[in-house]
Amino acid sequence: MQIYARKVLSFSTNQLWSMITGEFEIVFDNGEVVKTHERDLIYSSYFWDFHRRLSATPLLPEHLVSRVLNGKPLGAKSHLQLIKRIYKDAYTAHSSREGLASLRMTEPALRDLLARIMYEVNNLAYNGLSTRTVEYVTSMDILDFVEIVSDEEIVKAETELVPTYKGVEDTYKVADRVLRSPKYKNNMLAKAYCAGAVKEGQVHQMVTPRGGVTDLDGENPIIVKSSFVNGIWNLAESLVETRSAGKHLASAKGAISTTEYFSRRMQFVAQKVKNLHYGDCGSQSYLHTQIKESELPLFVGMNYFDETTGSIKPITKDDKHLCNKPIKLRSVLHCAHEDPYGVCSKCMGEIAYALPERSNIGHFCEIFLGERFNQTVLSTKHLLGNVKIQPITLDEIISKFFVLDKDSATLYLNKRFKDKKLKIHIPVECCAALSDIFEVSDVSDLSIARVTEFSEMGVEVTEGDETRIYSVNTVWDKRSSSLSYDMLEYVRKNGFTVEDSLVCIDLSDWNYENPTMAVPLRNYTMADYVKDFEKLLESTGNETRKKERKLSPDAFFMDVFQFLNSRLSVPAAIIQVVVYGYLVESMAEGKYNLPKEGSRREVAPLSEIMSNGSISVAFAHMNHYKIISSPSSYGKNRPDHPFDIFFCPREVTKVKT
Ligand SMILES: [Zn+2]
Repeated sequence: MQIYARKVLSFSTNQLWSMITGEFEIVFDNGEVVKTHERDLIYSSYFWDFHRRLSATPLLPEHLVSRVLNGKPLGAKSHLQLIKRIYKDAYTAHSSREGLASLRMTEPALRDLLARIMYEVNNLAYNGLSTRTVEYVTSMDILDFVEIVSDEEIVKAETELVPTYKGVEDTYKVADRVLRSPKYKNNMLAKAYCAGAVKEGQVHQMVTPRGGVTDLDGENPIIVKSSFVNGIWNLAESLVETRSAGKHLASAKGAISTTEYFSRRMQFVAQKVKNLHYGDCGSQSYLHTQIKESELPLFVGMNYFDETTGSIKPITKDDKHLCNKPIKLRSVLHCAHEDPYGVCSKCMGEIAYALPERSNIGHFCEIFLGERFNQTVLSTKHLLGNVKIQPITLDEIISKFFVLDKDSATLYLNKRFKDKKLKIHIPVECCAALSDIFEVSDVSDLSIARVTEFSEMGVEVTEGDETRIYSVNTVWDKRSSSLSYDMLEYVRKNGFTVEDSLVCIDLSDWNYENPTMAVPLRNYTMADYVKDFEKLLESTGNETRKKERKLSPDAFFMDVFQFLNSRLSVPAAIIQVVVYGYLVESMAEGKYNLPKEGSRREVAPLSEIMSNGSISVAFAHMNHYKIISSPSSYGKNRPDHPFDIFFCPREVTKVKT
């Protein structure tokens, strides 16, 4: 039997339930004939309300859920992927000038309409599918679990478990392999696991060891060898496991309020970036950076300057050729739009089209970020996996050569080598962008982790006639070290040589008072992570930074990007707006306005922005007595803020009218 897909649209999904059975062929708008079955069509047809309501949307084979799944089982997010495809095609079909004219609406109104349809379709599909598929719903019982935990491979892995972080991770790998094997294709637990309907990490802890658990201090994990399904029978292990709940209780109070409060302060700062203007400001200034392949998805939608065609293009997920080499990004940090509180959509990136009209974009981007923070702190208990802790401690070999400054997480060379001949070796592949230091006028324009990032280094010591090379491990908690700004400046002046694919740096003229390497901040619980992030934002102006040198806005952006994405997954387009809120023209001259293309710019710490920004924000914050009594509060030329209307409504409305 052949059905015309267009014809299907004249029936509601409800009608289709009783009309369609068995297998058949569907003819799509592009002429393609696809063989499929009732379930595929009925499921997909819920989402074809887009086509029913906006008839110019082409109905294509890609709009079948089977095409989205491509052989994989239906999962918790399959419908979102389907909606995404249809939304995109519906938008393209109607967003042209003629398309908009025929609908008699503006482009933002079209997006609003599509968002509305998306919301309604999602709701209808949820209601329809959850009531009409009741007869297909199965449940799982203990036997499904028993079958998995009795699997030979899992039993073997558990008996041979080495009680370390890695040992536990290895049994998780075994569990993953077993659950995905065709042997268990009828096991309900395995089915749910493969479909992504249950959290992988939680299933691992049920069928294989619970893993490392720490106490509230987050240090010295103890490995709980039993699994939840087999039961934690041993008293000691059961006491250890109670700490998970303890941690949850502890984080539910202090950590949440700290995170929420921090998030609030970030909102004050970011809200200053108020308006989004659709169009292109024509800025000629770019954010110079490099994108690693693993980070590409987070840059999708940002616009870049394509050297080959001389045009500005959005990054797509397939643009692998852009990775690991210098790239010029359009960014709000360099936007030239004349609105002192606004940026253009070209600089913002494609994400601009996901924002409702007249949103305060700074606020939008901050809550996106703040929500991630809160949600992860809140779900601490659910994210408590097998814990591995590695605070920065120096092992025997590294402490021979380096002294650690714990506060700034930087390493200094031991002064006893001052009189000896010292060289360091770093594998060439870890210095991808080292030559960039010769390209920029100031090394602090670069983000150090971009220039070098190495998990080990060689230290060559020459005493008299004897030369020895020591291999030193420089990785902590999965994060590698980087050469410090001072070291980069030194290399720029003194150069380096390459021997046997190793970059060699001769340290004969090195100043032992300067840090040699920097280690990323220690990184364990989510609450600590948020605190570290706050430190990163605050440290832009305090001593630790002054010791080094002033941080350039581009480097600051990359630092924030790197830090946030070491744990979360936050798109670069969002981060740039939040970072933009932290930029001012010149602190020394009291110019706290957002810098525009071509103007001077620097990164200001949160406290500076608070006390020198709009007074309405300072009053919404705290320390009122200090604000009232400080003469500096009465200075003029402060930037505006959306809160001003609450502080002096009459004046603000008078200016407007
Ligand atoms: Zn712009």
